[in-house]
Amino acid sequence: MYTLGIDIGSTTSKAVILKDGQEVMASSIVVATVGTDGVSRAIEEVLKESGLARETLDCVVATGYGRQTYEGADYQVSELSCHALGVHHLCPEARTVIDIGGQDAKVLSLNDQGRMVNFVMNDKCAAGTGRFLDVMANILKLDISCLEVEAAKAEKPAGISSTCTVFAESEVISQLAAGTGIPDLVAGICQSVATRVASLARRVGIKEQVAMSGGVARNAGVRDAMEKELGVTIRYHPMAQLMGALGAALYGFQKCR
Ligand code: ADP
Repeated sequence: MYTLGIDIGSTTSKAVILKDGQEVMASSIVVATVGTDGVSRAIEEVLKESGLARETLDCVVATGYGRQTYEGADYQVSELSCHALGVHHLCPEARTVIDIGGQDAKVLSLNDQGRMVNFVMNDKCAAGTGRFLDVMANILKLDISCLEVEAAKAEKPAGISSTCTVFAESEVISQLAAGTGIPDLVAGICQSVATRVASLARRVGIKEQVAMSGGVARNAGVRDAMEKELGVTIRYHPMAQLMGALGAALYGFQKCR
């Protein structure tokens, strides 16, 4: 049985094709804001990679911010449930999931069956989300994937005191003008995201093991800062950004088998 999970996020569209609820046949991440052709491109890419035709898919499940406006799915499921399913599949020991996406951050508490028992979310403020990192990377003229490399070179991470993205932007520009090095600035920026999300996480309660999902999990600078903030080891899987799409494909398998 082939199931397709699509995660239509605020900044990226992700797709995963799963065979028999186990084997990942193909996956894709397309950077494109919600409401564009990003989702069609993500689907095209996974069909091409797997060699499957769309008609051979047994079930299509959509999740993410843009799921309600996507008409080609058999089911629409919340991203909270999908991240819980995806993380539990790849990391069954996880009891806390920290998901930082392009526009929001969520912390989920899971029981030992992988069911979500509690969650907290920040979808009101860009600080503590991927958006904050995207804005800062843009000021520093760095690709988002390079932030972790710069952060690793830091000697004395810069303190970013503003909690608002707009003020933090001015603060980074001032520090840059005052001669603070890029690595120290990037480490301070990653620290700022970790501090904000860690305080969200403490509200739901930290139970080990702790796993990170969402695109920001790919940034080792944020992961390291989060480990120090929370005093725990963070579990990271290379499919972190695809957890929602994977969870959607798993949901499809459970429904259609
Ligand atoms: P959404 O589902 O809301 O679209 P994602 O979970 O896909 O969001 O995460 C998008 C965020 O991930 C971006 O805003 C960016 O900050 C971060 N990101 C994307 N690619 C990378 C990368 N290669 N390295 C580090 N961070 C990344």
